[in-house]
Amino acid sequence: MSKKQEKDEKGITVKKKDDMPEWYGQVIIKSKLADYSPVRGTMIIRPYGYAIWQKIMDYFNQRLKEKKVDNAYFPMFIPESFFKKEAEHAEGFSPEVAWIQNKDEDSKERLALRPTSETIMYDSYAKWIRSHRDLPLRINQWCNIIRWEVKDVKLFLRSREFLWQEGHCVYETEEECDKETLMFLDEYEALAQNILALPVIKGKKSEKEKFAGAKYTATIESFMPDGKFLQCGTSHNLGQGFAKAFNINYVGKDEKNHLPWQSSWGFSTRLIGAIVMQHSDDKGLVLPPKIAPIQIAVIPILFDKTKEKTINEAEKIRKELDRYEVKVDTREEYSAGWKFNEYEMKGIPLRIEIGPKDIEKKQVVIVRRDTGEKLFIKRANLKDKVKELLDDIHNHLLDKAHEHMKKSIVETDSWEEFMKSVEDRKIVFAPFCGEEKCEDSIKEKTKGANSRCIPFNQKNIKKKCIHCGKEANVYAYFGKCY
Ligand SMILES: [Zn+2]
Repeated sequence: MSKKQEKDEKGITVKKKDDMPEWYGQVIIKSKLADYSPVRGTMIIRPYGYAIWQKIMDYFNQRLKEKKVDNAYFPMFIPESFFKKEAEHAEGFSPEVAWIQNKDEDSKERLALRPTSETIMYDSYAKWIRSHRDLPLRINQWCNIIRWEVKDVKLFLRSREFLWQEGHCVYETEEECDKETLMFLDEYEALAQNILALPVIKGKKSEKEKFAGAKYTATIESFMPDGKFLQCGTSHNLGQGFAKAFNINYVGKDEKNHLPWQSSWGFSTRLIGAIVMQHSDDKGLVLPPKIAPIQIAVIPILFDKTKEKTINEAEKIRKELDRYEVKVDTREEYSAGWKFNEYEMKGIPLRIEIGPKDIEKKQVVIVRRDTGEKLFIKRANLKDKVKELLDDIHNHLLDKAHEHMKKSIVETDSWEEFMKSVEDRKIVFAPFCGEEKCEDSIKEKTKGANSRCIPFNQKNIKKKCIHCGKEANVYAYFGKCY
């Protein structure tokens, strides 16, 4: 074995609680989810990482179908004139936009590499929408996005290019638009909790943090083990600003012209970063069963005399569990122990070991990745037990993360306690005036904390803002973030 291989095959060399950024990078590299790229600020998603993204896409495409959203694809080049049509939007994004020169002789207009697709899509929407019969219009695209904001990549969390989905809808009425803006947020919440085992806090963004050009932005935020928030998905009610700027209008049932209402919503490959950070441990990756590219690794324990019989039994197990993603590893050049480490590093939820003695006793050995627990299961009960264990792993991961989130919330009216809690990497729940200037000042004084979200359905708040002392109309969650 070469020096390089030896180094690659060692386990994680730091503990999660001691050095989270280093640990995080090692888990991703060593489990082969992604790699650093020779191009600054960009990353490479390796097949194992992409397989997780595909699982997320498969799930979400089903949901989109259910919600009558169609997939489509628009160009990644956006003419400068389109980009500048909605002033607030252009201003909000311009620091991050990468421009390219148009090489055509007859057009000198610069092109933006899409930082988001509102403008290019809505130019077409203006042509496609004529009457109320064309509405609601719901289109989604899966694509890459360019935002020139970082020099140093944080795998899956921050890079100049990433993958996402963006949904763009048009409605006749404000009520409909509002309802579906929140409906898609609920879809994100369901994806996070039911599929990725990520508990989230749901609410609206402050004026300062909302999407450039939106009426309001709704968000789901997950809280990471190191005490930082990670935004997992946003849904924007865009109001009528883009419709005005792009001349989108429709003839209503009253035969008059009307401006429609619009929404857009998106989540990205950041979700993979959230899964890694939330669930994984000092042995490597831990994957929630529903998005694990391999859910069960079956490892036959091979001896010369019983090899054939054991492999046959392992194959039988695979067939019996064919509703799951099962891999039977019969490689003889690796020891069983080496394979155990490999599947632990890769976060496979369940490992089934089967040897000649187990066959005699009509049992299998199952090891859970999340707890390390080793179970001896009767062969006849295998199918039921596997289902039960996979469900249990999902719930255990979700509960553990939820417990940490709940435990981290500090509700306070005192600025002193606010400052201390932010320093301690807590979730601070405090009365807030909602003003941009006040939030700027909070961010400066706390060295980076901001309002993460303002929960829905707040009762009448009769409090003073935690920072400026003005009338507070809401309670908001504050903290540091990725
Ligand atoms: Zn204030």
